[in-house]
Amino acid sequence: MTVRSLAARAPAPVFRALDRLRGSPWPYCVAAFHRIADHPGDELSYPPAIFDALCRYWRDHFEILSLDCLLARLAHGDPARHPCLSITFDDGYADNAEVAAPVLERLDLSATFFLPTSAIGARRHFPWDAGLAPPPRTMSWAQARELHRAGFGVGSHTVTHARLATVRGAKLERELEDSRGRLGMELGEAPQDLAYPFGGPDDCDDTARAAARRAGYRSCFGCHGGLIAVGDSPYRLNRMSISPRYHPSPQAWARAYSRARWRTSARRAPGHW
Ligand SMILES: [Zn+2]
Repeated sequence: MTVRSLAARAPAPVFRALDRLRGSPWPYCVAAFHRIADHPGDELSYPPAIFDALCRYWRDHFEILSLDCLLARLAHGDPARHPCLSITFDDGYADNAEVAAPVLERLDLSATFFLPTSAIGARRHFPWDAGLAPPPRTMSWAQARELHRAGFGVGSHTVTHARLATVRGAKLERELEDSRGRLGMELGEAPQDLAYPFGGPDDCDDTARAAARRAGYRSCFGCHGGLIAVGDSPYRLNRMSISPRYHPSPQAWARAYSRARWRTSARRAPGHW
């Protein structure tokens, strides 16, 4: 009896497991960074030297997809047949433009920067950066325009970095529409993608997702770990936050990715709207 005929007689879960082992497609991975800076012990600051090494590892082992390309593939239901990854940054720190972008350009890697519009070009600091000395700066509008001109993607991270599940009505619409409008005005092109602030599973809800769709966004990204399978709703796309504690080297990241890959393959039904 051949493996094929055995598989055909096997109960469905066994068949699915065999199917996965045989030629399982690769889930898509979207990496999320915040600061690229040396702040030992700070979870949101990824050291520049490791960032450089990780980007080289990705260049050598992954196809790097812009979000345009990733979302087109998802819309067509195209499974990846080899490892694919997209690179994103949240919160609009100046080091994204000054430290990360030159590395990405040197290695010819695409990336998308999600900007909270009221923080761009402002001298104020996020409350969670209060313990860092000196407090990290956000980028200027000139830097945002330069990233866009250089071919990087720019997306919205709302106006005020609001927790979308807690704002309703006109305020929710302003967070989504005004940030899109401001980015469109500053860059000459309205953003199509949204990363919702804080990124946890409870930080965005169906009301906010519906408002994002009405505001014209084609996608909505969270940030609570995990990879993306074909069939996932474009308004429920997850990202893998890159952490100096859990991913202190490309090898450590590769182990975490491998675990996430098998968890994604084992997922039963894809997420839905
Ligand atoms: Zn954020």
